[in-house]
Amino acid sequence: MKLSSEYDVAIIGGGPAGCATALALKQQGISKILVVESGRYETVRIGESIPPDTRLLLDELGILEDFLQENHETCFGSCSSWGSDTLGYNDFLCNPYGNGWHLDRRRFNAFLAQKAMERGVELLCGTKVRNCDRTHPESFQLQLMGEDKQTRAVTASFLVDATGTRGSFARSLGARKLFLDRLICAIAFFDLPPDSHFSKLTLLEAVEYGWWYVAKLPNNRLATVVASEPSIIKDTGLHRMENWLAYLKETKHISKELADCSAIDSLSVSSTPQAKVPKIMVCTAPSFRLDQSTGNGWLAVGDAASAFDPISSQGIYKALWDSLKAGKAIASYLHGDSGGLEEYESLIASRFDNYLTQRNYFYQMEQRWPASPFWQRRQERTGLEKANLLAYASI
Ligand SMILES: Cc1cc2nc3c(=O)[nH]c(=O)nc-3n(C[C@H](O)[C@H](O)[C@H](O)COP(=O)(O)OP(=O)(O)OC[C@H]3O[C@@H](n4cnc5c(N)ncnc54)[C@H](O)[C@@H]3O)c2cc1C
Repeated sequence: MKLSSEYDVAIIGGGPAGCATALALKQQGISKILVVESGRYETVRIGESIPPDTRLLLDELGILEDFLQENHETCFGSCSSWGSDTLGYNDFLCNPYGNGWHLDRRRFNAFLAQKAMERGVELLCGTKVRNCDRTHPESFQLQLMGEDKQTRAVTASFLVDATGTRGSFARSLGARKLFLDRLICAIAFFDLPPDSHFSKLTLLEAVEYGWWYVAKLPNNRLATVVASEPSIIKDTGLHRMENWLAYLKETKHISKELADCSAIDSLSVSSTPQAKVPKIMVCTAPSFRLDQSTGNGWLAVGDAASAFDPISSQGIYKALWDSLKAGKAIASYLHGDSGGLEEYESLIASRFDNYLTQRNYFYQMEQRWPASPFWQRRQERTGLEKANLLAYASI
């Protein structure tokens, strides 16, 4: 296929936010859309739980029926030891939208990309946007580099930063990140033994140094994650399998659940030489928003505009929500009305305020370890409103 070099909209990043924005723009009648994605939808992606009402957004994007055919793992809610030693249940039984899902994230991202292409979006995989410049008051020029190191330039009337928490291009256009928190997560994915049973609830457990969760994924896989402060992860060595496993075994509920289905055996470093020992993946999970998520001819969506603590399980929902709002704002901008961008900007800011209230409420609930630096830091920031948020501002 011969690619064009001039687009109405160029979207940098083909994750959930980038692909859903492309779908939303197609619905708005925008024809020439390019999505540039540095990966190829081949590697493991992190972040799997989506709430039941995500179906409304998938429906609005016109992809709900196809999504349901993908057979991701159903999720019936969560079960947590949080604020107390005993387990509390928050199931979706009475939820009007039914169940949520635990996604195979690699497959979900690839699905969104496929749907965008089927609707006529051009998708360039294995290609990085190296930089973008405003070469003309009405357009941007993007420098692309493929895996073969070949470069080419394209122009676009509107630019969308969907690069995830990097938010590289919004920042190059002058936006600043206002940080609230910077968690680190250490994650292992592993196979459940054949025929074993694992709950369809997300299991969450607070511990003195942070919190753990486990979620059953499609194909009998489990994602097990610990979240803590960067300094605690370093001091405890939680980024190394032997320490991660030792701390996991000390959890009260999660270790029991894993032992009950013999899953903990497959994690054992001393298991048979043939056994595939999972690796620990370490990633940052910051909470922030940009001080400015739109500008003249551009906007940021998904994690590039604002990132939430993974405890919220809202990242993908938020990416799809942003995309629908962004689609409308960009379409009106291209028709000469920039009022949609202003509205988008204030929606992103007010949604972050709501998130802050919920997050603070959640961290306040856990009062079992008043001397723990992890909980102290999360709780001393609970009164954090806009003014204090700015005090944490960083580039
Ligand atoms: C440990 C952890 C657990 C989480 N759990 C959940 C959960 O249970 N539920 C949930 O909803 N969310 C969860 N999240 C958050 C969720 O994963 C993110 O919110 C979501 O991926 C955001 O989507 P996005 O499209 O904005 O960004 P991303 O998914 O990060 O996509 C950005 C894309 O941009 C591409 N890219 C970046 N720079 C360039 C460039 N220069 N050129 C071309 N391409 C580029 C990247 O390759 C990537 O594919 C979790 C996050 C973490 C860290």
